[in-house]
Amino acid sequence: MKIIDYVDILSALRKNKKIFIDGDVIITPLAKEAAKRHNIEIIKKEKKMRKEIIAGNWKMNNCLNESVELAKGIIDGIKELPDKRIVVLCPPFTSLYSVSQLVSQARDERKIQIFSGAQNMYFEDKGAFTGEISADMILSCGGSFVIIGHSERRKIFNETDDLINKKVKKAISKGLIAIVCVGETLEERENSKEFFVVKRQLKQGLKELDLNEITKVVIAYEPVWAIGTGRTATPDIAQKMHEFIRKQILEIFNSEVASEIPILYGGSVKASNIKGLMAEKDIDGVLVGGASLKPDEFLKIIFYEK
Ligand code: PEP
Repeated sequence: MKIIDYVDILSALRKNKKIFIDGDVIITPLAKEAAKRHNIEIIKKEKKMRKEIIAGNWKMNNCLNESVELAKGIIDGIKELPDKRIVVLCPPFTSLYSVSQLVSQARDERKIQIFSGAQNMYFEDKGAFTGEISADMILSCGGSFVIIGHSERRKIFNETDDLINKKVKKAISKGLIAIVCVGETLEERENSKEFFVVKRQLKQGLKELDLNEITKVVIAYEPVWAIGTGRTATPDIAQKMHEFIRKQILEIFNSEVASEIPILYGGSVKASNIKGLMAEKDIDGVLVGGASLKPDEFLKIIFYEK
């Protein structure tokens, strides 16, 4: 239960004269009176107002023909989407153009919110960076999203928070939506460092973003011990971290940004566990690896029942 007191009113007074609340709150009589006196709006925000994003990360799987077949299999199963639900397909770079064509056609014909995205990018615009891909290249292939800082990039390719921050800034400046991944390793969790690690990843990864730029960011909490292991975080474990992430966003930015930013969960999401995860108030969607490669399973995730 959160308490809104006089200090919150003073802080809103210095910012945008709005306080966004969700869940159960108590507003102290002094705060009520001060809010009235200073024309501070207290706005109740429901989780329902945030978009639900179901994103598939195909990783280094599928040659061009296989990607087209998979995308068609998924798209064919989506005649319409529940309100506020967005689907994002992130194939390898080599299939991005073709998958983007298919999702764009589906968007036009069926008026559904389905997009494509890349799994990584480099922060420079162009030049001697052999093997790298720029934000403009992703856009030119029809991509709207880009996953940044996936744990496999951090671990296998030694990506640092600083590099991730450069990529996030560039992606946003070019008009892409950045899905920024954070999450602790098993060792970090076993040493009770999970909140410390995620806080650092958020602080450094989102460094120097302004209030407009942060609206182009989606956070994905992906505990490394749950990725590709079949070991999902329980809804309760995931919710605790999502709530913590939202609190960090509030501290770095403000309450409006915190209440609006979509926070996805990733790590062995399947048709059998999506419902429990999505029932949590701070879980706004999922980033799915393995299960997004099977159209039937991914469609069950997309159409999970509340
Ligand atoms: C991922 O790679 O982002 C992921 C969550 O993988 P999986 O669903 O296979 O655990």
